[in-house]
Amino acid sequence: MEKKSLLYEGKAKKVYQTENPEQLIVQYKDDATAFNGLKKGTVAGKGIINNQMSNRLMRLIEKSGVPTHYVEELSERETLVKRVTIVPLEVIIRNISAGSFSKRYGVEEGIEFENPTIEFSYKNDELGDPLINSYHAIALKLATEEEIATIKDYSFRINEVLKNIWKECGVILVDFKLEFGKTSDGRIVLADEISPDTCRLWDEKTKKKLDKDRFRRDLGGTEDAYAEVMSRLTKYLSDNK
Ligand code: UDP
Repeated sequence: MEKKSLLYEGKAKKVYQTENPEQLIVQYKDDATAFNGLKKGTVAGKGIINNQMSNRLMRLIEKSGVPTHYVEELSERETLVKRVTIVPLEVIIRNISAGSFSKRYGVEEGIEFENPTIEFSYKNDELGDPLINSYHAIALKLATEEEIATIKDYSFRINEVLKNIWKECGVILVDFKLEFGKTSDGRIVLADEISPDTCRLWDEKTKKKLDKDRFRRDLGGTEDAYAEVMSRLTKYLSDNK
């Protein structure tokens, strides 16, 4: 499968059309942005890690029965995916307090929740991706009530799958963001990516941050942290063939 015209260029990825109208090629870049594009930089090798990690995790998610957009890894940075219409909601699942949750509610980071939480942001750069509830999302016709129910069910199931994988790697899955899409036949599938750009991952023992917060908060060692979680995942996969 070959890349045809560039369909879309985002902050961390380029998306190309292919000869198959039902499939697209995603190309991962090393560019990183934070705070709605205010902070810009590059993380060397990030595109390769995010591509490979996202693909391996999506394969495991598929195996657990949740459909995804993943089709085939084409190269270090490129993946063939199903063409979907993205539901303009960012779905955030949290197991432990951090980031905007801690800020909004004035609580420290690291509080373990008895049950995971879910929230939605409206994907809209001009508005700065505001928090939105499901009633408002339905009123704005961003998704139907049934689609929201499916998205919630899939998201909590994905959390269980990912939490268990990362636990085996000695990593705590603090929180993460998902995006879903609708295929041409109207099915909801997991889309976008799952990577240290979109998850908070802490070392189980030291609680060291092994994710994009190193870039966001200028903690240094971002490249090494991404490489560290990828190598732990690779080891997990080879041990569990
Ligand atoms: N997240 C993301 N993209 C966004 C916003 C958040 O991938 O545009 C991820 C983020 O990496 C974290 C989780 O979603 O794993 C929760 O992020 P939070 O709401 O705490 O926002 P932040 O503190 O990152 O602004």
